[in-house]
Amino acid sequence: MPISNHNRDVVDSLIFFAFVAITALCLSFTFSMIVYQLGLPTNPRSFVLTNLLISACVAIPTGVIASQHEFRLKSYQRRLEALAATDPLTGLYNRRFFKQALEDEVQRMRRSHQTAGLVFFDLDHFKRINDRFGHKTGDLVLQEVAAAAFAELRGPFDRLGRWGGEEFVILLSNVTLEQSALVCERIRERIAALHLEARDEAFSVTASFGTCLLKPGAQIDITLETADAALFQSKGTGRNKVTSGRAVELAA
Ligand code: GH3
Ligand code: MG
Ligand code: MG
Repeated sequence: MPISNHNRDVVDSLIFFAFVAITALCLSFTFSMIVYQLGLPTNPRSFVLTNLLISACVAIPTGVIASQHEFRLKSYQRRLEALAATDPLTGLYNRRFFKQALEDEVQRMRRSHQTAGLVFFDLDHFKRINDRFGHKTGDLVLQEVAAAAFAELRGPFDRLGRWGGEEFVILLSNVTLEQSALVCERIRERIAALHLEARDEAFSVTASFGTCLLKPGAQIDITLETADAALFQSKGTGRNKVTSGRAVELAA
């Protein structure tokens, strides 16, 4: 966080503290004056009731203000968490969050004994698009591709992330290797069918895919390497295709 933002947070906190303190003092003072005007309580019961009344009048507004502050703090925290998990260009999960999601999925699979599909895909000759139309168009293409891939996935069950640059990663919950390859095929076709345009020129883009099976007890790093090797094979054998990597099975 930049220093100026940090300073602003400190000033905001001090203003908040002063506001709460002054509010509490004003309320206490006002009610004390009223009690004073009415005459001091003559018996223990009315003394306790008066004190309870004054305390409630001070505590309730203070509590309301404090909880509002807490609410704002929480929503700020949630925004920060979302930012920490998101790739700013595409809005997809970033690599760090995706790795965490993979670990969670492996833990879940230990209990459910299901398998999942891990997919890497990378745009073909993307450098040429940047060179021809500029980096800004390249960024727009990345956003279009992310949206196209996302549209083929099953809501909260599948996770799509940007691994880095023009490389994406997908976690398909509860699928076989064959099903994973079929989903890849659908995404591949959808990306290839995108009608893109820049500088009054139409163009298209393709992507190469590598997928493998994530099994309960699998070592994540080895599974990632297997999917990456499958992607590498797609690149080496003509691009714009899907390659299934050998399923990796290791002891839990
Ligand atoms: P290949 O088919 O072998 O994958 O070729 P490629 O050109 O796609 O791959 P290469 O690794 O040679 O180039 C990747 C390019 O992706 C180069 C880099 O400038 C571009 N790139 C990476 N991240 C971004 C980004 O965030 N925005 C844009 N516009 N371009 C990016
Ligand atoms: Mg590429
Ligand atoms: Mg690449």
